[in-house]
Amino acid sequence: LRQLDHTITAARPLKLFAYAWGFADKTPWETHWEYLQQLKRWGFPVTTESHLCRSVDDMLTAYDELAAKRAALPFDIDGVVYKVNRLDWQRRLGFVSRAPRWAIAHKFPAEQAETVLEAIEIQVGRTGVLTPVARLKPVNVGGVLVSNATLHNEDEITRKDIRVGDTVVIQRAGDVIPQVVEVRAEKRPKGSKPYDFPKTCPECRSKVVREEGEVAQRCTGGLFCKAQAVERLKHFVSRDAFDIEGLGEKHLEAFFAEGLIKDPADIFTFEGRDAKRNKPLREWEGWGAKSADNLFAAIAKRRAISLERFIYALGIPQVGQATARLLAQHYGSYGAWRKAMVAAKDRDGEAFAELTNIESIGPSIADDLIGFFAEAHNLQILDRLAEALEIADFQRAETADSAIAGLTVVFTGTLERMTRSEAKSKALSLGAKVAGSVSKKTDLVVAGPGAGSKLTEAEALGVKVVTEDEFLRLIGG
Ligand SMILES: [Zn+2]
Repeated sequence: LRQLDHTITAARPLKLFAYAWGFADKTPWETHWEYLQQLKRWGFPVTTESHLCRSVDDMLTAYDELAAKRAALPFDIDGVVYKVNRLDWQRRLGFVSRAPRWAIAHKFPAEQAETVLEAIEIQVGRTGVLTPVARLKPVNVGGVLVSNATLHNEDEITRKDIRVGDTVVIQRAGDVIPQVVEVRAEKRPKGSKPYDFPKTCPECRSKVVREEGEVAQRCTGGLFCKAQAVERLKHFVSRDAFDIEGLGEKHLEAFFAEGLIKDPADIFTFEGRDAKRNKPLREWEGWGAKSADNLFAAIAKRRAISLERFIYALGIPQVGQATARLLAQHYGSYGAWRKAMVAAKDRDGEAFAELTNIESIGPSIADDLIGFFAEAHNLQILDRLAEALEIADFQRAETADSAIAGLTVVFTGTLERMTRSEAKSKALSLGAKVAGSVSKKTDLVVAGPGAGSKLTEAEALGVKVVTEDEFLRLIGG
């Protein structure tokens, strides 16, 4: 409804029943019922289903009567609302936060129906989450024809043992998407098999993974998966990523549909391919030579990109701007980062240990990075991007003369002059890397009172250990 152009709203086939006022200087009516009559006199549509009740029994009778004709109403309802009629009593009762004490909803039970589940289809969302959907033999549920119901996730299917061919009870309540409540086991056809959740994405055939502690199955196809592609492209060109002006959602969708931009690497070969087309962009409806040139210029302007923006732009799950910056800072160059991420798939290897040792990068983020680099098509897209772009090494220039630039620092124990996170961001801003545990790659351990195993390890490995005060003197702060 909230359109800038009110003529669009006006064109929509909307109807309303008026029942309240927003703000009024004066409220000359004394009861809610009186107000409803006033609305009618003013010419507003008012529902004929309201009743003035004198007792709780009256109210429950009205509820039952309305429930009985619910299916025949020309609109959908999910219950009734009882209101205190006298407005002075309403004012005295007041509100609890935003809920009035003088009104209460009494919902009808959710409507149920039985039907046959004909198929289970998998929908791939824009972030790669696979959602199973039940295709049902269409059935009338409280006046609405229902042919789909959500199955939520794999666990839900397993828990209820929902199988293709089953007779199921479905339910709809209010605006909620219909759900499968239970299976009628006695009606199960012979020889039916438990549902096997797909191991590969139905859109792109990439491997499907389920992260520890999560219920969702996720496609690892990333940039290659059609279902995720447009959303990923949007992220890729967004302001904090490649920041390509004039390449908005509508254009991306149109270029994707035409097969012109299917993945981020296509953006940078677009101009060359477009020039050879029978109908180049400048001849498209709504485009012209000038706007096409502007777009190609905006793309060309972004061929040089910083490593941290590049990493962020890839849209790897859990890798936001902060993590992208940490990775860029730690690995320094695109080449080093790519090599390390591919090598990290060996969980006993050094690359994995190095990755998870970066402060605030845990096993869960590491898994997402490894998953991304384990897909061959992601690597292909990366290679095409690397060829088309100049990915600048992480900028350490301004911090190169600090005493800790390039060093790997570990903080342990209690810090007294600053918080742990202040210390970390200070070290990072001076070009150091901050790690969570001590290894032979550690250059410096800053130990406060109560330092435990990290200090012992540092001493065993012969790593330099300083106090907080010594650290502050070292960095000149
Ligand atoms: Zn996919």
